This record gives sequence, structure tokens and C-alpha cells, in this order.
Amino acid sequence: MTQKFAAKRLDNLPPYLFAEIDRQKAALLAEGHDVISLGIGDPDKPTFQHVIDEMIEAVQRPANHQYPSYEGSLAYRTACAEFMQTRFDVKADPVTEVLALIGSKEGIANLFPAFVDPGAYTLIPGVGYPVYDGGGILNDSLSWWMPMSEENDFLADFEATPAEVLEKAQMMILSYPNNPTSAVATPEYFDKAIAFAKKHNLLLVHDNAYCDIAYDGYVPPSILERPGAMDCCIEILSASKSYNMTGWRAAFAVGNADAIRTLGIVKSNVDSGIFTAVQEAAALAFTGPQDEVKKMSDLYERRRNIAMTALDEMGLEYHYPRSTIFMWVKVPDGYTSAEYVTKILTEAHVIVAPGSAYGPEDGEGYFRISLACEDDRIVEAFERMKKLA
Ligand SMILES: *Cc1c(COP(=O)(O)O)cnc(C)c1O
Repeated sequence: MTQKFAAKRLDNLPPYLFAEIDRQKAALLAEGHDVISLGIGDPDKPTFQHVIDEMIEAVQRPANHQYPSYEGSLAYRTACAEFMQTRFDVKADPVTEVLALIGSKEGIANLFPAFVDPGAYTLIPGVGYPVYDGGGILNDSLSWWMPMSEENDFLADFEATPAEVLEKAQMMILSYPNNPTSAVATPEYFDKAIAFAKKHNLLLVHDNAYCDIAYDGYVPPSILERPGAMDCCIEILSASKSYNMTGWRAAFAVGNADAIRTLGIVKSNVDSGIFTAVQEAAALAFTGPQDEVKKMSDLYERRRNIAMTALDEMGLEYHYPRSTIFMWVKVPDGYTSAEYVTKILTEAHVIVAPGSAYGPEDGEGYFRISLACEDDRIVEAFERMKKLA
């Protein structure tokens, strides 16, 4: 860390792997090259029109211009509970078991001060959303990366956690369908994870960001569908990926009432809730017509099929995706993730994400392709990659 004003804990944050990619991209653009980004997981299509229309009305109401209720309006939390009921057949009390989040990223970052003491451990997926590790670093707590590989179908192996880590562990995070691997969990896996969390007194947090984007008829579950989950779990759901609302910042936590209350205590000291107009629009997204969601899912499925055909032709191995907007692809022999990603960028002018950015050990040897890009650009990107030596 070269900053003059920076706390020592920032030295522990991993280097930002995209910084070098951003630099190379800027240089290529400056030379007039056409760069295609399959790097970021941000839906390329706009928010659904009925949600935008609701926002336009909601923003006109002066009552919405004041501080929001930090835990979410009762109407918003009721909409979240209704979503859980309709989508998963999970019952949750909107008052005690639901908490509004300003996007799941905020909620995940605030888990650490809420549930993990300095020096204690969080069990996190061997490859996963970078905030699972970063949140702990900013909290002076520790990460234990649960092994995740093809051999265990990318189902994080919590059983492999050493006893001395478990003694000092307070939380475990899982996320299926999984970013970046696109792996999905079985009900049996969730049941084992719940039993493990109970046995070791861990709060089990399940990040369910991709529950509505799935292929081949697969329907991603909520961990709260499993028996006993409400005793030790909270789940985090978001409007971001399902409704193309990443810019709006609307999500919620649902589950164990004691944990929801604890997270609320931290949040009431940190933020002041989601803009009420956004709560009203997001409530409609969660409870209104869902046919656009299915159309988006079908669109990603078509793109997935384009990508699978191209990868097969290139002879590259990947995890078969039944959900998420990602493809998890093996780097050919002789390259590290970072080297191969740099090769694709400098020779094909296509941006993909290095696997090592999602897990220093288990992510190495892979790269991630995002399907959040127009079909014809995906086709063009693969045409270019096929020409790589
Ligand atoms: C995109 C993503 C998030 C962040 O969602 P927001 O609600 O927009 O903050 C959280 N978890 C995973 C796994 C994601 O891929």
C-alpha cells in the first residue's frame, strides 16, 4: 500500500486483478481497437418497464424524499416475504425475519462486524464473490477457504475445515447457484451444511443472487426450504440480477430472527436504508409479473448455448452451467489464469475474468466468461478467440 493515509489492514486486501486488465483495455481502446467485454457480471439489458414506471410515480411523492426506514418499509419487507412465499414456499415474518439491504454487497460486508469477532474465522467458498474475503479483512477477522473443485462438484467442502479453525469460526458463507463456477447445490448438500452449522454454532449465510436465472428447466432453491434452516441460516436475495436492477441497490436478508436483528443493529449505525422510491419500485419487481424474468433467463440460456458450442469447438473444458450468467472455463496447459486472460485481451481484444480473482488457490487455472453481452458480440468474441494459437 503506497497511500499515505491508510490503515494497516488495507495491506491485507488482495491486489485488484482488474487494475492491470483495465490498463491494457484503455491502451487498446486508445489505439483504436474494438474491445469486447465478457468480463463483468452486470446485466446488459435495461430494468423492466413496469418497474421503471413505478419508480417515476414513486419519486414524485414528497413523503419518499425523507430518510427511509433503515430496516425497510413494512410494505417493502412484506413484498420480500411474499416473494419468498410465492417463489420458494418459504414463510417469513416481514417484521422479524426480513431486513432491507442496499444491495447484497452492502449486506455481505456488514455481516462481518455483526457476526465475526476480530481474529475469528469465517468459512468462505474456495471460489466466490470477492467480498466474502474482503469483508473479513476490513473487519480484522480471518477467512478459511473451503476447498472447491471439480472433484467435489464445486460444493465447498466444509468438512475439511481443521478443528483449530472451527474452534474460532463464527460464520460460514455459501452461495449456490455459484458465481463464478455456475455450480448448483443439491438439497442433501444444504441439509449437511445446516447440520454442520448447528453442530459448530455457526451462522450459515446463503447468498442466492442467481435464483431466477436458470436453464434446462432447473429451478434454484432457497436454503430456507430445508428443515431447520430458520434455526441457523439467513439468506440474501437481490433485485440486481433477476430484474436487471444492479444500479438501483435493492436486496434483502431473510431468515433467523435473532441474526436479522443483529445485522439490523450494525446497519442502523452505518446507513439509513434504501431510498423509499426504490423500495416501492423493487417491491413491485419482487411481487409483480415475473414473465420478463423468464424471458431474460431464456436469453441467457441462448447465449450459454452459443458459448458452449464455441468452447467445444475450441476444445476448452468448462463446467456445464445450469444457472448464473457465467461460464467457468479451464485455462489451457502452460498458462496461469492471469497469463491466459492477458493473452486473450492483447491478441483477441476480448476481456474475460481470471479465476484467481475469485479464489487464490481453487480459482487458479480457470477463467470466467460473462454472458451479460449482446449475442452478436459473444459470437464475434469467440470467433476471435478461436484464432488464438
Ligand atoms: C452480483 C452478486 C452480488 C451483488 O449483488 P448486489 O445485490 O447488486 O449487491 C452478490 N453476490 C453474488 C454472488 C453476485 O454475483
